[in-house]
Amino acid sequence: MNDEPDDRTSFADLGLRPELLRALTGLGYEEPTPIQREAIPPLTAGRDLLGQAATGTGKTAAFALPVLERMAGGERDRRTPFALVLVPTRELAVQVSEAVHRYGRELGARVLPIYGGQPIGRQLRVLEQGVDVVVATPGRAVDHLSRGTLKLEHLDIVVLDEADEMLDMGFAEDLDTILAETPAERQTVLFSATMPGRIDRLARQHLSDPVRITIGREQAEPGEAPRVRQSAYVVPRAHKPAALGRVLDVEAPTAAIVFCRTRDEVDQLTETLNGRGYRAESLHGGISQEQRDRVMARLRNGTADLLVATDVAARGLDIEQLTHVVNYNVPSAPESYVHRIGRIGRAGREGVAITLAEPREHGMLKTIERVTKQRIHMEKVPTIADLRARKLELTRAALHESLLEDDLEGFRVVVETLTDQFDVMEVALAAVKLAHEATGAAADEEEIPEYVPRTGSGERRGREGGGDRGAPRRPRRPSAGMTRLFVGAGRSSGIRPQDLVGAIAGEARLNGRDIGAIEIADRFSLVEVPDSAAQQVIASLRGATIKGRKVTVRRERDDPR
Ligand code: AMP
Repeated sequence: MNDEPDDRTSFADLGLRPELLRALTGLGYEEPTPIQREAIPPLTAGRDLLGQAATGTGKTAAFALPVLERMAGGERDRRTPFALVLVPTRELAVQVSEAVHRYGRELGARVLPIYGGQPIGRQLRVLEQGVDVVVATPGRAVDHLSRGTLKLEHLDIVVLDEADEMLDMGFAEDLDTILAETPAERQTVLFSATMPGRIDRLARQHLSDPVRITIGREQAEPGEAPRVRQSAYVVPRAHKPAALGRVLDVEAPTAAIVFCRTRDEVDQLTETLNGRGYRAESLHGGISQEQRDRVMARLRNGTADLLVATDVAARGLDIEQLTHVVNYNVPSAPESYVHRIGRIGRAGREGVAITLAEPREHGMLKTIERVTKQRIHMEKVPTIADLRARKLELTRAALHESLLEDDLEGFRVVVETLTDQFDVMEVALAAVKLAHEATGAAADEEEIPEYVPRTGSGERRGREGGGDRGAPRRPRRPSAGMTRLFVGAGRSSGIRPQDLVGAIAGEARLNGRDIGAIEIADRFSLVEVPDSAAQQVIASLRGATIKGRKVTVRRERDDPR
């Protein structure tokens, strides 16, 4: 181990107050992500900011921490909101407000998410009592403005989060309406995963002399690329521990580092992996030098095979046996990805880099590919059947080795006695069964839904169009060659995108990949299928049930074709 001096910027270096620093330590954040390092100082100083960053970069904290810092730093009227964060979907509204709440707990920050679909009465009551940070979808924010229940005339900061998504969902006018109600001298922050011309125009119109930040602009040095097989799996968050276990079972690494974002995540994952029969050790900033040395010794002498670590703790580690680097989350910047996988594939040896991404983080994988100029192969999480096949293959290989070793004579008597009564093939089968069961890997029967990326670049499946008012807005025509179908069941019957993909793929024998955009509203859903398959899909779904219910399926009425 050759520990480098730690000269990285810390959260304290960014000028955040102790209440916020304590919250971050409590959450297990060890150091700022690149976007946080770049965005927090100018935002705390009151500058406008235009940031290109996708989910997974830590952008929420990059704007939430300065909002809280500035809020705590000044005198103000506590009856009206200090900051408004506009987001495209209700899910994001809830996520962002939870994050602001967690960071701002010690400061007593009052946060309220407002979105359609939730009874407005509760929102009204809380707004009346006074809120510091409102996190809203644009449609519902406009509703509140027109009722006079959301007052923005004393607002200090507006954040437009995932601005490209908001424009895609047809919220441009709502954004103009909302911004027109805010003071001209407010601070404005705009984050967007992509920077099309429309975002540029929006920024020119509403931001004043913004600082510009792009995550993923730097190109890796040519020739730097190690010999590493790079693959990624897109897995919903709830299934990540199981998916990782399965991928590791199939990959069977000699020694691997699994990178996590926070201390808590490191501890939890270590426990899960140990429960699955791995010998995993955790390493994070809260671990003493003595423990650290012990962990490293175990990894080197082979008594541990997995190291679960944060970036900070793994800095400077050089482990020769390492065959696999696993990113349990998409790294917060391409540089971090390059740095992590630089630990394997050295000196002509082959290495494997595996990344687990949540569906929303798909865009960040693309950014990493672009910056590193290397392909990351999208793979399917091994199924239970794959896993069984792989385990049988390992047993077969072990038996093959044993047959070559030629020390089997001592067992001949057992076989001979049994063959008096049974066929030799049956005896062999029973022996294989015992050997296989003795490998003892825990049974894994959990279904992990397959994620099917939406066709078209950078788009996401399963986003809820205009989730704001409970019904998708449809600014877009169906993609070329696709027909949009109306399915008479939606969120309120628990329908998820994977249910629709499952039903269509299962009943109409359509490949999941051929299914296009899916939008789920409260009471119905819209699914794009190829024109040529539309009739057949309608016919086969008419007789079928989705989530145990018979549902109406027809061509969408206002489909112009
Ligand atoms: P975001 O890109 O804002 O959606 O954040 C992605 C994830 O990273 C969230 O789960 C955050 O809690 C987590 N996160 C953000 N900043 C940090 C940090 N500095 N260290 C560790 N985790 C972080």
